[in-house]
Amino acid sequence: MAHWDEIVADRRLTLARVERHLADLHSDAYLLDELHAVASGGSTGRRGVFVYGWQAWATAYAGFMRPALWDRAVTPELAAAPNTVALVAAHHASHMTSALGQTFANPMVQIARFPVTQPIEEIVAGLNRFQPTMLLGYPSALAILAAEARAGRLRISPKRLYATSEPLLPEVRLALEEAFGALVANGGTSEAGPMAVGCWRGPGMHLCDDLVIIEPVDARGRPVAPGALSDKVYVTGISNPTLPLIRFEITDRMRLLDAPCPCGSAHRLIADVEGRLDDAFAYSGGVLVHPHAFRSVLGREPAIVEYQVRQTSAGAEILVVGAPADPATIEREIAAQLARVGVPRPSVRLRVVAGLERQATGKVRRFVPLAADPYEARTLALADGLGKG
Ligand SMILES: [Zn+2]
Repeated sequence: MAHWDEIVADRRLTLARVERHLADLHSDAYLLDELHAVASGGSTGRRGVFVYGWQAWATAYAGFMRPALWDRAVTPELAAAPNTVALVAAHHASHMTSALGQTFANPMVQIARFPVTQPIEEIVAGLNRFQPTMLLGYPSALAILAAEARAGRLRISPKRLYATSEPLLPEVRLALEEAFGALVANGGTSEAGPMAVGCWRGPGMHLCDDLVIIEPVDARGRPVAPGALSDKVYVTGISNPTLPLIRFEITDRMRLLDAPCPCGSAHRLIADVEGRLDDAFAYSGGVLVHPHAFRSVLGREPAIVEYQVRQTSAGAEILVVGAPADPATIEREIAAQLARVGVPRPSVRLRVVAGLERQATGKVRRFVPLAADPYEARTLALADGLGKG
């Protein structure tokens, strides 16, 4: 990111100009009448800003959509069902999946968006009304919905689930399959463009190896063999000449599989990306706050490089690396988000630090719940879905 202005191949662009465009973005919009920009939400790794030319943007959309289109084409039960898609994810258009969905709005598909920052009762009521055939969302949000379904409050029968943007842990995948009786695909992360996409015919993901070159490597950058777990991944984009990323380092760990996917795809397969699920924060009175309430504000701030949110009894303390121009406004915006979902008189403090403590994997634990035993707090909503093991 420090060398962005030298790397970008369109000389009209600078990182500052793209950041200004992103800051004003509330629905998808063109930059210079032909480009699209997205920022990584900062759930893992450092904040990244990516810009796409028109051809690359359309190719990325096709890359994300092809498994779903194929699945629908070969599954009579799906082709006969209404094409209704519910998204329980970020609402902000700087996130790639949200922005692509707006550019390529399809009149044949009915889409309902439920921002994860909405109170859970409102999301459940909205889903009960909408009755989606496909339910797409962050695993941390889908896990809460699985618990709502088990409790009998959420009454929907989706035929397909798609988990996106966060690691899908095996126990969450199982809880979703059992709660909804639907096939689950894992879409993994997406901010640097389609890298791997989920498939409902088997676990793991199809590599988009016609759009990106993926090199799983160890901590010292040496290739790791199929079957072994990498420490990180080098990604080289071969479909977006506007921002040519060559061996861009992503800290996700990845296991390339030797066997083909049961669906018959010729794309190589990777095992579900490993990692940890971001913790929801439980406050007194059973109020549950999804990590996105923080992410949606912090991810929009260009001057915040990394952050860690620590739950406090009345709100949160947020450690940030970087130099936010107006910390008080950020505190107020997050407090407003917390108040909206029912935290009484929330108190939010932002503290600038030189660095954040890293776990053994090199990643920062982004969300730290208050409870001595975080799982005890989460049982409020997640026990039915996750606690069976
Ligand atoms: Zn497949």
